[in-house]
Amino acid sequence: MNFIEPLLNWYRKNARALPWRKTRDAYRIWISEIMLQQTRVEAVKFYYARFLAACPDVYALAAIDDDALNKLWEGLGYYTRARNLKKTAQVVVSEFDGVLPKSDETLLTLPGIGAYTAGAVASIAYNIPVPAVDGNVLRVMARLFDDPAPIDDAHVKQRVRDTLLLHMPKDCPGAFNQAMMELGATVCVPNGAPHCDVCPVSAFCLSKQNGTQDALPVKSAKKPRRIEEKTVFVLTKNGCPVVCQRPDRGLLASLFQLPDTAGRLSPEQMAAFVGDRGGHITGEIRIYDRRHIFTHVEWRMRVFSAEASFSVLPDGWQYLTENHALPTAYRICLDEPEAAGGAT
Ligand code: SF4
Repeated sequence: MNFIEPLLNWYRKNARALPWRKTRDAYRIWISEIMLQQTRVEAVKFYYARFLAACPDVYALAAIDDDALNKLWEGLGYYTRARNLKKTAQVVVSEFDGVLPKSDETLLTLPGIGAYTAGAVASIAYNIPVPAVDGNVLRVMARLFDDPAPIDDAHVKQRVRDTLLLHMPKDCPGAFNQAMMELGATVCVPNGAPHCDVCPVSAFCLSKQNGTQDALPVKSAKKPRRIEEKTVFVLTKNGCPVVCQRPDRGLLASLFQLPDTAGRLSPEQMAAFVGDRGGHITGEIRIYDRRHIFTHVEWRMRVFSAEASFSVLPDGWQYLTENHALPTAYRICLDEPEAAGGAT
């Protein structure tokens, strides 16, 4: 693959100075790669610094309290990532003397570490020649080879991985993987608008030669998201809302939530929901709508918000404190319509 040298030269001159690029420490690289999977680079910078201040090494992460971990992750979403970080840290402490394994195959056996993360950690921290194939790399490869195969197909991903494994430079696999990702993130960008005029590998790009780059990559048709309607209760005491813990399985498992129930209740049914739990509404009632989109499901929420008093809070209910992590899907329900610019 003749494009490798121009790509690496370009990367050496143009790589963004990102905090996790200043280190070869496997722990730090692993944390950054997990955070970056679903979150924008700019947002990750803040979370990365705060996370490392609280958990500077794998021992601190293995021992962190679950609520403190969720609080560190609050706003990043996909909380399973945080839970798996802690699980993996515990395995690394108990089975690998506190050092992330130096083999991508062993890394792959750890909770939350898939082929991409194993490749990134192994190549960047340990210089092991193994590809790290994320969405950026799949897009670049589809365009470079003018390949119309759907990039979300597992066989296509494996083919791309095999091709890269065969050709990647064995002396600098970490730089090569990062260069591919950087090209995808900053030059060969998605949504039909690659910056081919400044691309270091344009001379080797088949889709540019064929004028097909705007139509690539191809993705399979997605299943439509499931819509779930629910009613969410913001029941406050001196402005502080009641929360309870979610079941330990499924979406947002074990995290805190505002009390809710399936379906869109009428105002009478909402008042009955509170009354049935021993509550008395003591302030103005506000009802508004909120919407939150997860990967496979969309919540359409009717929010009932009011000051309420309880002689005794129902089992499992408590008032929100600054130590509780409240997922964004519920946190947006705390914003009243005026503050949020109307129902969403
Ligand atoms: Fe992407 Fe254009 Fe570069 Fe090809 S020439 S790799 S389409 S930016």
